[in-house]
Amino acid sequence: MLDSTLQATYDQVLRRNPGEPEFHQAVREVFESLEVIQGKYPEYNDRSILMRMCEPERQIIFRVPWVDDKGEVQVNRGFRVEYNSALGPYKGGLRFHASVNLGIVKFLGFEQIFKNSLPGLPIGGGKGGSDFDPHGRSDGEVMRFCQSFMTELHRHLGEYPDVPAGDIGVGAREIGYLFGQYKRLTNRYEAGVLTGKGLDWGGSLVRKEATGYGAAIFADEMLRARGSSFEGRRVAVSGSGNVALYAIEKTHQLGGVPITASDSSGYVVDEDGIDLDLLKQIKEVERGRIHEYAERRGGSARFVKDGCVWDVPVAIAIPSATQNELNADAARTLVKNGVEAISEGANMPCTPEAVSVFRQADVAFGLGKAANAGGVATSALEMQQNASRDTWSFEHTEERLTQIMKNIHTTCLETAEEAGRPGDYVVGANVAGFRKVADAMIA
Ligand code: GLU
Repeated sequence: MLDSTLQATYDQVLRRNPGEPEFHQAVREVFESLEVIQGKYPEYNDRSILMRMCEPERQIIFRVPWVDDKGEVQVNRGFRVEYNSALGPYKGGLRFHASVNLGIVKFLGFEQIFKNSLPGLPIGGGKGGSDFDPHGRSDGEVMRFCQSFMTELHRHLGEYPDVPAGDIGVGAREIGYLFGQYKRLTNRYEAGVLTGKGLDWGGSLVRKEATGYGAAIFADEMLRARGSSFEGRRVAVSGSGNVALYAIEKTHQLGGVPITASDSSGYVVDEDGIDLDLLKQIKEVERGRIHEYAERRGGSARFVKDGCVWDVPVAIAIPSATQNELNADAARTLVKNGVEAISEGANMPCTPEAVSVFRQADVAFGLGKAANAGGVATSALEMQQNASRDTWSFEHTEERLTQIMKNIHTTCLETAEEAGRPGDYVVGANVAGFRKVADAMIA
């Protein structure tokens, strides 16, 4: 139950945004955390600040026509939700996936506002994307799509107004095509207009690794806070995209044994620990499917076509695929198998019911807004390097990322303690994120 002000605002969000269940879920989660601090900070128990927070500053929807390899015209829909600029230029990724619609982009943009405030760097919140599916498309098709997408979107972007990056389906290749088109349309080498760029043309070392590294570092911090560690422990990671690959890499470095990876066709379990070079070769270089990993690795690995990666007994789980991929049944299985910590590498991968299961079982649960903030934080470091026309070393950038993740972890714990919910990273992340943005808006 929410108190009357929060409930009335939530009802208005539902009425104003029909048919957008993921967006409703994201708002509800933040409101439930605000409920916990109800009465403590009366300035936030005000419809006007809550409603302003939920309503995007600007929503852009546009047609993206492009020509496929057969010479036929295809049409997709493009989105950019410029959600909140209280702390800095809109910042957040672009997602290219068949499931993208306005509600998905709004849920992601809403989460991004609070996530982006946690590292303490000057970035607002936004998100964008398209229902274009790059899978099975040639490089030429992806390039023509990206050029058309940018032809419309470029007028809204810039180092000061709005700085996109990647998300699902958007990696260095897509950012390259988008940046090339922006440069050509504007006749400006404006490196700070996009992040996640290639290293030769304004990108930052560690940006590619940052989201996954950060999620593993956050898990490590949660374990340490409980007097535990990664050392020799079995770890399940879902997904096999950018976040998953580098969560696996950092888990290895921290002494854990990552034993799973997945894609939409199934998952693999490798009892000897995932061979990262092989997985990168298949996923990053060849853009292949996960079953090839088990075929090429042999002995220790097996491919499971139908089933749930969360059935594998592990001590730590890093869901890094997509929203709502881990439900209450999966959470119960993980708890039954003795899971100790969950760190959300993806955005909102656990359903609200799964989160309650973890809470009741006293599992350390790192909310995505905190646990996966390392990606966007390193994007902000890329913007710093672009603004000062400088490039930093891998070591320096990784040190900054590690410190940022540790600080976010501390902020979450301190805020949760203050709210009377010690150890609750959901309340900690939501309240700390919300307060910073709300204070700036009120000011
Ligand atoms: N898409 C990433 C996220 O969900 C990164 C966004 C960025 O770097 O701007 O936070």
